[in-house]
This record gives sequence, C-alpha cells and structure tokens, in this order.
Amino acid sequence: MISRKLQDAINVQIVAEIWSAHLYLSMAFYFDKEGFNGFANWMKKQSNEEMEHAYTMADYIIKRGGTAKVGEISVVPQEWDSPLAAFEQVYKHECRVSRMIDHLVDLAVEEKDKATQDFLWTFVREQVEEEATASSIVDRIRKMGDTAIFNLDQQYGARQ
Ligand code: MG
Repeated sequence: MISRKLQDAINVQIVAEIWSAHLYLSMAFYFDKEGFNGFANWMKKQSNEEMEHAYTMADYIIKRGGTAKVGEISVVPQEWDSPLAAFEQVYKHECRVSRMIDHLVDLAVEEKDKATQDFLWTFVREQVEEEATASSIVDRIRKMGDTAIFNLDQQYGARQ
C-alpha cells in the first residue's frame, strides 16, 4: 500500500499534469487563431500526453490501495506575444515539472517505497525528452526566426 504522504504528493502532481494539459490546449487555441495549424496540432497532442500522465498516475495510486483525487486546477495563460514566447514558456514549464518529479522521487526514497521509485523513473526519463524537445524548438526559432517558425509549423502538422 502506498503511504498517505506519497499518495498526496502524487495527487498534487496529477493537478500539475492537468494544468500542463490545459496550458498546451490554450497554446493550441492561440496557434490556431494565429494561423499556425502545425503548432496547434503539436500542442493538442502534447496536451493529450499530459492528460495521459495524469491518468497513469491516478491508476498507479489506485493500484497501490490509495485514493486518486482531482484537485483545483488554476487558470492557464491565454495569450502569447509570439510563437517564440509560447515555446519559451513550454521549456520553462517542463523544467519546473522535471524538478517536481525529482522531488517526488526523493520522497519515494525517503518513504523507502521501491515500487513508486520505479514507477517514477519513467517520468524522470520522459522529462529529459520533454526539455530537450522544447529547448531545441526555442533554439531554432532564436537562430532562424521566421524561417524556423515556417518550417516547424509545416513539420508539426504531421505529428500523430
Ligand atoms: Mg507531464
């Protein structure tokens, strides 16, 4: 059975994952409005992935005899000055999520809960990819400006 402390901490993470899903959905709407359909598609997929994280975490808590809860989700930003500004926020946000997951691992170690440590490593590894992807998009837009925006928007229209 999962400890109350870990259960509560993962429930906080579930809120963060749903908040991330809302953030990326909000970015999808922004990109659609601005005519960047590829970026909008990418953000919708990203939003779905974040919801999947929340479901996976809830399933895990329940499997370990705990109670999964959906806490209050605060409102997400709704406008950005540019595609660069949006992706800079994605990168900053993913770095923050990585620190949150790291903190959860520390807690699972403190609680001597090996199964939860193992469960969380998947997310630790995934965050490496999340940060790298966002950071490379930011770099490309910073270096090549509109050319990168045009190319990436074309490319991301195909993301499944
Ligand atoms: Mg996530």
